[in-house]
Amino acid sequence: MKDDCVFCKIIKGEIPNYTIYEDKDFKVFLDINPITNGHALLVPKTHYENMFELDEKMVTKIFKTAKKVYDIEKDKINLEGYTLIQNNGHGQDVKHYHLHLIPRYTHDDVKYNSNEKQLVEVENVFNQIKE
Ligand code: AMP
Repeated sequence: MKDDCVFCKIIKGEIPNYTIYEDKDFKVFLDINPITNGHALLVPKTHYENMFELDEKMVTKIFKTAKKVYDIEKDKINLEGYTLIQNNGHGQDVKHYHLHLIPRYTHDDVKYNSNEKQLVEVENVFNQIKE
């Protein structure tokens, strides 16, 4: 536990939250700024900063738990898909590992853009990675 960590505070029950699943290893609560209806955060009770601090056992548990939460949510809110996002370092606001569980719906406006410029960049980055 880290004293200045907002998710550690949620786990300790010090900050109000909308918990939809909890067991000895995880707390899963609704994101206060949801991308879609039912957007939740799957958070290990142990304070890991990011994915690079997880061992294989924890990675397995995270994905097993994500499936459990999917099963809980799917019938209750009629979701049609599940998008997972997980930020590490740049783009990560809360420095306590969390997996975004984002229910998807036919008419949601979550988009992944692609254009010609991006395709050129893909080739450049491919060459950098393969060098
Ligand atoms: P990330 O950019 O991946 O670190 O995302 C952090 C997420 O935590 C954001 O989507 C926030 O809306 C969410 N968040 C921050 N504080 C809280 C809170 N107290 N309760 C629920 N969600 C939170």
